[in-house]
Amino acid sequence: MSRVLVIGAGLAGSEAAWLLATRGVSVVLAEVKTLKLNPAQKISTFAELVCTNSLKSMDPDSAHGLLKTEMRALGSLVLDVANATAVPAGDALAVDREHFSQQITHRLSHHPLIQVIAFEASDPIALMQEHNCQHVIVASGPLTTNPLETWLTENLSSEDIYFYDAIAPVVDADTLDYSKLYYKDRHKQPDERADYLNAPMNKEQYDAFIAEMVAAEKVPPKDFEDWKFFESCLPIDLMAERGPETARFSCMKPIGLELPDGSEPWAVVQLRKENLQGAAFNLVGFQTRLTYKEQVRVFRMIPGFEEASFIHLGSCHRNSFLNSRKLLNSSMTSLKFPQMSFAGQITGVEGYTESAAMGLYVAHQLWRRLQGLEELAWPKETGIGALVNYVMTIEKPAPSNINFGLLPNIEMTREQRKSGPKKKVRKQLAAQRAREVFSGFSQQL
Ligand SMILES: Cc1cc2nc3c(=O)[nH]c(=O)nc-3n(C[C@H](O)[C@H](O)[C@H](O)COP(=O)(O)OP(=O)(O)OC[C@H]3O[C@@H](n4cnc5c(N)ncnc54)[C@H](O)[C@@H]3O)c2cc1C
Repeated sequence: MSRVLVIGAGLAGSEAAWLLATRGVSVVLAEVKTLKLNPAQKISTFAELVCTNSLKSMDPDSAHGLLKTEMRALGSLVLDVANATAVPAGDALAVDREHFSQQITHRLSHHPLIQVIAFEASDPIALMQEHNCQHVIVASGPLTTNPLETWLTENLSSEDIYFYDAIAPVVDADTLDYSKLYYKDRHKQPDERADYLNAPMNKEQYDAFIAEMVAAEKVPPKDFEDWKFFESCLPIDLMAERGPETARFSCMKPIGLELPDGSEPWAVVQLRKENLQGAAFNLVGFQTRLTYKEQVRVFRMIPGFEEASFIHLGSCHRNSFLNSRKLLNSSMTSLKFPQMSFAGQITGVEGYTESAAMGLYVAHQLWRRLQGLEELAWPKETGIGALVNYVMTIEKPAPSNINFGLLPNIEMTREQRKSGPKKKVRKQLAAQRAREVFSGFSQQL
């Protein structure tokens, strides 16, 4: 009988252990929290929801709803227990987090094929061998403890493992005023095809913007966070505090971004496509510590952003994650250590549901491998397929929640465009397509 070590009984590790055990694989589940809690944890039971108690929307036309449909098809323990411990929250799946965590712990600890060990893993390969396992799944989460982090940086990669995720805001392309923006790539000729959209500022606009950013309210670091930012990844507001010119010599530099009339703006905010379809743009270099409310207020000072709505806002927080595109294959298995896979937030997704979904995906791929079956290529049109595609293709890793911007674009007919608000109709069509594609694909599960 195959035997697998799972490190971490969080959202992803719990799903992975349960999927494997319920499919006849013997599992050793190593979890440190009964020995010591990390600063975000309050309880010693498994799959702790460390902040909100919401697993987000159940609406089948929502991105999180899609993911849940697919997770149920894989026999999700998290969703099963969440339904049993749900508290009223509209179309969101919110839970009584203590009962939720207790029930997950009970189900895992009482499964005949799961051996739970209270242990802080530091060397996953050695621990795998010590417990006579053929494979190890590392699902140690955003607050992976130091000994394991050290092993990962020393044995897997020192460059492609990140400890803080400084996220830049992503703006909805439909809400920009293009009369104030222009396409141009730095140092390219104006008539050459360009990928970057630019928001130019004159001196007055720039000075007012920088002054507002310095004065704006910031999110204080949590007591367990001492922000050591990479100089190459400084939050834009920290740059502004360092001096009014800093940003203009960094991510807002106008060099090589002449306006269509040939003149050079005083400063520029560059926008990079967030997905192939250009349905969303991220603000290059705008990772920030500003509170969400202040981001909306201050970033709407950018020309063309007066009515902007943000698909997600920026933040900086402690978060261990890999550059999966460089270190893993599409089943989240290490290229260097084929007997080791990664699951959950550490793969570069963000969120409870996303992490649990990755736990199911990775365990299912591994289960197929252990049965001698081909691993499956999940279609990008599905929720799980879109998440996998995102972490395996994103150039500059930035943990992401599931959102429709990760799914392939959907062309609308004239009738469909007339049938309602464009954004809403497009999401409904993308959700319908995802369900159709998944129902065909799920025959193979
Ligand atoms: C402070 C904070 C707040 C968050 N708030 C939200 C939110 O409100 N909503 C949301 O959707 N997402 C939130 N997230 C993001 C994310 O969804 C959660 O962190 C989620 O729990 C990630 O799931 P996971 O399974 O990858 O990791 P976790 O659920 O963190 O599980 C990892 C487990 O591994 C264990 N572990 C770590 N190192 C070792 C080791 N060396 N040996 C053995 N065990 C180990 C940990 O104790 C933990 O139980 C938050 C993250 C943080 C850090």
